[in-house]
Amino acid sequence: MHDNNTPKSESSNYARSRYMRFTVLTLFPEMFSALLIGGIVKRAIERQYVSVEPINIRDFAKDRHHTVDDRPYGGGCGMVMKPEPVAEAIRHAKKRHPEACTLLLTPQGRLFSQMVAQKLAGYAGLILVCGRYEGIDERIREHLVDDELSIGDYVLTGGELAAMVVIDAVTRLIPGTLGSEDSAQEDSFSNGLLEYPQYTRPRSFEGANVPEVLLSGDHSAIRQWRRHASLIRTVLRRPDLLMVQALTAGDIEFMKKLQQDIKTIIGKHSTAS
Ligand code: SAM
Repeated sequence: MHDNNTPKSESSNYARSRYMRFTVLTLFPEMFSALLIGGIVKRAIERQYVSVEPINIRDFAKDRHHTVDDRPYGGGCGMVMKPEPVAEAIRHAKKRHPEACTLLLTPQGRLFSQMVAQKLAGYAGLILVCGRYEGIDERIREHLVDDELSIGDYVLTGGELAAMVVIDAVTRLIPGTLGSEDSAQEDSFSNGLLEYPQYTRPRSFEGANVPEVLLSGDHSAIRQWRRHASLIRTVLRRPDLLMVQALTAGDIEFMKKLQQDIKTIIGKHSTAS
């Protein structure tokens, strides 16, 4: 998990253009061993597509007790992470990875999304700064980070789980980390829509059958069915996505037909009542 994951072929700079180094600044570095339990991130680390290096912020505290927190100015409950150790840790990480983007995990940050993950996957490295307690002294946010990310409108006890969410979502976008390059492109949000329903064997499960078209071997019909299923699912669950997504002429035609069918059904029921 640590720097022994540097690509074997690497000399001075990045030999593989899409190799991603995650450096995590945290008070709980051991939490990141969870990434090695299994799955795609573990495989990506082993195959040296990515590296994850947790660095303990406490190692940068200068006093005898390695103090990393203090009471908030102005009073109030809880403790605040002191700026000095965090600043030292960030400077240390930046010195080693000057090309990396430094991100603070905070519930006050920009909402993390598939689009943000895609953008972050373009960097050679990400430095993820995890807060604890009531958060990190404001001056760190002002002067030492490039961006702030939130993984959702709720408050976690620390930035570590948020950092792992970012690592997981970005890793699977690094070419080669997934079995098939297509899998990430088909995922929900990647093309602005929710993904179509997925089925596997058996053909019939507790009386529910797999849609016939998926068994037909007709790839063009399957593609069309999936696109239409994606559109319907997105209209029903996340219409907001369709307000900003560019739709094809075929999509519009399909949705007009749907609209017409719904109108006809409503019309039939209103004349009946
Ligand atoms: N007092 C802070 C506030 O109201 O904004 C919350 C601090 S929280 C208890 C401690 C740390 O957890 C934060 O510094 C941040 O690193 C992390 N954290 C909590 N919720 C998060 C979220 N939704 N997204 C990203 N990081 C989060």
